[in-house]
Amino acid sequence: MNFLMFLRRMFVTRIEKGHETALDAWGALCGALHTRTTEGRQTIAEKNGTFDLAIIGGGIVGLWAARFASEQGLSVILIERDHIGAGASGGVLGALMPHQPHPWNLKKQKQFDALVELGSLCAVLESETGLATGYRRAGRLMPIATEEQRERQTHWSGAAAQNWRSDAGVAWRVEQTEAPDGLLSASATRFGYAFDNLSAIVSPRKLLAALRASVEPSVTILEGCEAGQWSSAGEVLKTSSGEIGVKRILVSAGANSTSALHALGLDRTATPHIVGIKGQGALIRPADPVPEDMPMIYGDGLYLVPHADGTIGLGSTTEKSWQHAFETDGKLDELLGKAKTLCPWLEGATVLERWAHLRPKGPTANPLVERVREYAVVASGGYKTGLAFAPTMAREAIAMLV
Ligand SMILES: Cc1cc2nc3c(=O)[nH]c(=O)nc-3n(C[C@H](O)[C@H](O)[C@H](O)COP(=O)(O)OP(=O)(O)OC[C@H]3O[C@@H](n4cnc5c(N)ncnc54)[C@H](O)[C@@H]3O)c2cc1C
Repeated sequence: MNFLMFLRRMFVTRIEKGHETALDAWGALCGALHTRTTEGRQTIAEKNGTFDLAIIGGGIVGLWAARFASEQGLSVILIERDHIGAGASGGVLGALMPHQPHPWNLKKQKQFDALVELGSLCAVLESETGLATGYRRAGRLMPIATEEQRERQTHWSGAAAQNWRSDAGVAWRVEQTEAPDGLLSASATRFGYAFDNLSAIVSPRKLLAALRASVEPSVTILEGCEAGQWSSAGEVLKTSSGEIGVKRILVSAGANSTSALHALGLDRTATPHIVGIKGQGALIRPADPVPEDMPMIYGDGLYLVPHADGTIGLGSTTEKSWQHAFETDGKLDELLGKAKTLCPWLEGATVLERWAHLRPKGPTANPLVERVREYAVVASGGYKTGLAFAPTMAREAIAMLV
């Protein structure tokens, strides 16, 4: 580990809370160190040599990409302008839910494969690092309040039997009784409930921590550092911490990916247009403990994600326009009220955290992995399913770059 990285790690671990000021200070320190090294002897590039790959953005996509790239033997630097998990990936939810199984298409097949694979990827990470990811194939409970909904759910149940081809024992079934353990209100389940046992849960922050631990021995992570212009001919990347030698670039900067492409000089007429769609969610603790094997609950755009520590992630709003991207407001209160109507046992729950961020979305709701230059790729647009799709996106991106 170089001296700069050592200092950064000391710095960042000490200032988990209130990191904004501390990271500003860290940025200044990086700058100062860099100035000293350039004036005195070495730039970061000279010190480390040239990296095979720079990954811009330390969210879930960037971290999986770092892992796969270093498995391929590439030397990797991960550049994060704030701190790992500062983007949409560092939230409180972590639902891994399949799309409706009808009509079937390539995107749904990819998502299905990703969902089936994620359990084993997390198991490997956990055994390598000794850190929990919070992964559990909890299944998903969906209330059925009307006859029309029951017809639709029955149709999807048949479509799942046809399209979900796996030996993982996955199914989508419809029951005409009340939900187990009184988890759903009687009025929401007048026509029963549906349950799919493919849906799973992960703790986004724990998963990021495990991924980080898994790549730290081989990947250089630079936090508090913003990527600037990249000269592919000269293999020099300008950053707020100085110049770095870089042969290839992967942009995984979430909702900021289009701006990052511009800053890198990788824009062109058809630059992929990634926008941010705001979402608000909350982390709550019910007054009474919930069953350890509680499934996820999903109805009418609302979802409840029961984590291993007894907390529940609750989400989320979908907002195309907003005044303050990272602040919560009355829309989250409405969602909390809706949750209590669907699950009366949530009355008296404590709200531990309110959280808002921007989901990265491309021109369609599909994740986007696109080459923008011979040695530059962008992987973003995970939108509402980024946590499940991230390994697939990362693998595709790295395959384009090796
Ligand atoms: C409220 C809410 C609930 C959600 N719930 C779920 C869910 O239950 N399940 C699910 O699968 N998905 C969910 N999502 C979506 C999911 O979080 C995203 O799709 C996913 O995290 C995107 O990951 P990413 O790595 O592409 O981007 P991000 O996590 O945003 O990471 C991008 C990183 O790049 C950094 N960066 C930006 N610009 C630069 C630059 N110029 N230089 C260096 N670094 C830069 C940022 O600081 C950030 O850390 C939710 C999102 C929200 C907002």
